[in-house]
Amino acid sequence: MTIKIHNTLTGKLDEFKSIQPEKVSLYTCGPTVYDYPHIGNWAAYIYWDVLVRILTINGYDVKRVMNITDVGHLVSDADEGEDKLEKGARREGKTAWKVAKFYTDVFLDGMKKLNLIEPSVITKATEYIPQQLDLVRQLKTKGVTYQIDDGIYFDTSKFASYADFAHLNLEELKAGARVEYNQQKRNPSDFALWKFTPEGEKRDMEWPTPTDLTSDGKERMGFPGWHIECSAMALSELGKTIDIHTGGIDHIPVHHTNEIAQSETANGVRFSNYWMHNNFLKVDGRKFSKSLGNGYTLDDLKKQGFTPLDFRMFLLQTHYRSEGNFTFDNLQSAHNRLHNWRNIAILRHQIHDTVTSDKERNDDEKTLSLYATSQAIIEAINNDLNTPEALSIIDEAFTKLQNTRLENINANALNQLLDTIDQTLGLELINNTPDISDESKQLIIKRNLARQNKDWNLSDKLRDELLDIGITLLDNQIGTIWQYTDK
Ligand code: AMP
Ligand code: ZN
Repeated sequence: MTIKIHNTLTGKLDEFKSIQPEKVSLYTCGPTVYDYPHIGNWAAYIYWDVLVRILTINGYDVKRVMNITDVGHLVSDADEGEDKLEKGARREGKTAWKVAKFYTDVFLDGMKKLNLIEPSVITKATEYIPQQLDLVRQLKTKGVTYQIDDGIYFDTSKFASYADFAHLNLEELKAGARVEYNQQKRNPSDFALWKFTPEGEKRDMEWPTPTDLTSDGKERMGFPGWHIECSAMALSELGKTIDIHTGGIDHIPVHHTNEIAQSETANGVRFSNYWMHNNFLKVDGRKFSKSLGNGYTLDDLKKQGFTPLDFRMFLLQTHYRSEGNFTFDNLQSAHNRLHNWRNIAILRHQIHDTVTSDKERNDDEKTLSLYATSQAIIEAINNDLNTPEALSIIDEAFTKLQNTRLENINANALNQLLDTIDQTLGLELINNTPDISDESKQLIIKRNLARQNKDWNLSDKLRDELLDIGITLLDNQIGTIWQYTDK
């Protein structure tokens, strides 16, 4: 089966070909751990989780590296302003190290809640300082760096294809450069590889600047630029050329453009063959912003009665390259959809499998269509992670199942379909739909008997008893089935 990926590098839908057979190296730009991640941040990681899942289903052994930016990400992407970590430290009256540790743990915990597959390697920028300095050294040797008062910079005019990746207009950039841009820089697009701790200041996170990297040999403390971190970690863990690099669309013009410039200048080969970028999630049609107070976290959703998997379902309804719009109404619809899906998943506990032989299974048209549904889901996601398409394929199949008599549903085919949905979309349908207890089953049998005997009082009483323990009975054209009651 072929996987198609919209590649920012070519601007096209490209067929995916890995460098090594059956292996994929994947780098995901990870979180800056200075505050609680909002649901927009999580959007990115949910989409890339689906990417890992679909690659794995296609038989690839995926080595995925995700970094934790725990130093050097400045408030402005133009290398100006405070380090977000030091700012977080001031806000909370803790050291930057403590802040980083706290929010790294928050992030890892959120990953579990959202059922995100843990990357093969999680790299903290602060643990790769020697590798970052080494990369700066290589760039210095190539003659593309220069030093100004506040650090060592990359001269973007020395990388001929600098503007290509993001289709930048460098002339316009120059003309539009605001006054506050550091006038010592040779070009507005030049960026810091290593910044010096300002004289007279002491940062929580700082390292000695090797004197061979500076032009004057003076001893100074310093810290890495955000872009060099990703280049160095990707290089150390995955090699000079990687298969796929992912991030949000905000990374295209600066962060990823700079990663490419550094990595390709240092190594002389292409940095990544495929670049994938997720679009942004908005809230009520607006950007996330502190002043609007709309930077909802997973805890905020929980307070309104929604689970992380409700949010996961919500997000999968939008293609990763389309702009998403979060509203609590939309989240409610996603919650309802997930609830309905779980009620289909529990049919597997209620099927008395009457289709026994393989021959019968193969002859059974409904069984075949369930197997075909599994295939269609994979094909939709193979096509540039088309999760909305996969969701409508599932809805269609589930609507058919809702109208099929239980004895005509093949348990194996249903189980396989549920397994495919869980593997591709990570919605945990199987784990979240345990069978009911034997006592509850006895109550259902008693209630059905009462109903047959037209003992409506007893029948209603038992039905209410079941409702109290979260089980709803449905008497419809496919028979009497039980469902979970939505809370
Ligand atoms: P940060 O922690 O600020 O480095 O951001 C982590 C990731 O979240 C980055 O890959 C961003 O591109 C992504 N991101 C930030 N805001 C949004 C949003 N509203 N929608 C989707 N992705 C976002
Ligand atoms: Zn990065």
